Amino acid sequence: MSLIVMKFGGSSVGDAERMKRVAKRVLERKQEGNRCVVVVSAMGDTTDDLIDLSKQIVVGTPSTREMDMLLTTGEQISIALLSMAIQSIGGDAVSFTGWQAGMRTEAVHGKARITDIQPKRVLDALDQDKIVIVAGFQGMTDDGEITTLGRGGSDTTAVALAAAIKADLCEIYTDVDGVYSTDPRIVKVARKLKEVSYDEMLELANLGAAVLHPRAVEYAKHNQVQLVVRSSFTYNEGTHVKEEAVMEQGIVVRGIASDKNVSRVSILGVPEKPGQLAKVFGALAAEKVDVDIIVQGGVRGGEADTSFTLASSDLEKALVILRRIQPEVGFNDIQSQSGLVKVSIVGAGMVSNPGVAATMFAAISELGVSINTVSTSEIRVSCIIESEKLADVVRALHTAFGLDTTEQAFVGGPSERR
Ligand code: ASP
Ligand code: MG
Repeated sequence: MSLIVMKFGGSSVGDAERMKRVAKRVLERKQEGNRCVVVVSAMGDTTDDLIDLSKQIVVGTPSTREMDMLLTTGEQISIALLSMAIQSIGGDAVSFTGWQAGMRTEAVHGKARITDIQPKRVLDALDQDKIVIVAGFQGMTDDGEITTLGRGGSDTTAVALAAAIKADLCEIYTDVDGVYSTDPRIVKVARKLKEVSYDEMLELANLGAAVLHPRAVEYAKHNQVQLVVRSSFTYNEGTHVKEEAVMEQGIVVRGIASDKNVSRVSILGVPEKPGQLAKVFGALAAEKVDVDIIVQGGVRGGEADTSFTLASSDLEKALVILRRIQPEVGFNDIQSQSGLVKVSIVGAGMVSNPGVAATMFAAISELGVSINTVSTSEIRVSCIIESEKLADVVRALHTAFGLDTTEQAFVGGPSERR
């Protein structure tokens, strides 16, 4: 008998029919002899709809406390309905809000981290042989204030709860049937991965593979929670996320990710003095501009050029900040370029295989595409390129690293998250 946490995302419980299908799926798992805890997100676009509603009421920024009060209602609808759906087909279910399930968080609204879990009620209900339904995305501070864990936070609820109750497995049910070697909408022959390591998944999630929330992957790695990502619409075997994932013979890259809407800013002629870079990036950080790849060239004649990439949505803001601090820092000029994309290859096998980056650069240059900026980690190489040829580049890399397959056809629709 296994103890399983099953997490269903918003589109999996998007309407009454889907909710009933999830109920059936959960009951099947229970009848196989497992003990089941189910974490659910708000139905369909409920969270977005609630945000829109608040915008119709408030001009400017609404109170973050009241936003959490509002958004947590979405998950509360889901748990009640799912519990009823299970009961109505003969299962014994009970629903709990995040706070009833003992999810404690730091005192931050909108993006709180979990600080502690006291799952007594969950464990008691399991002892009474019940199916336990828990609201994702929500918790409570030590002072009894309601908080949320940030968009997509239900994954984190599921993983954290799985760790706290020492579950054997945490199943993430979504609208695609696993993690793919790349976006199957770009590359038809993308392969569904059998396994992926926590570190690789973390890189992929941070690069925008929307199938798992990065914080949930971090949590899973830290607590060694076995994860599987699978479809709520099919019975196909999903993708296992674990510490050590087996690499197929001869393959060093696990997946290829791409990130659109990247811009690059260059600051020319920054005087060579201690603290100049700190001033520039400190000013950007103070206004929450998220800087990605930073490249600092050598010093010539007492001056250096620095460039960095960022999301295009932050470009205007960054330029305003830079123009403001220009007199103080004393650089000569600011240049920017938008319409760029970031393509990344990820794979734990890279560490011990020289020449991976060279293969990547060669595949890109064969398409006549020039590489604007490069950044690497132990298990990732990212290139910034101009956007028109993105799909061709991803396809070429997929082939160059031996990832094409004809076996698996992609099943699923658009991703659950933005
Ligand atoms: N309902 C929340 C959101 O849409 C949490 C989640 O889906 O994980 O972000
Ligand atoms: Mg959602």
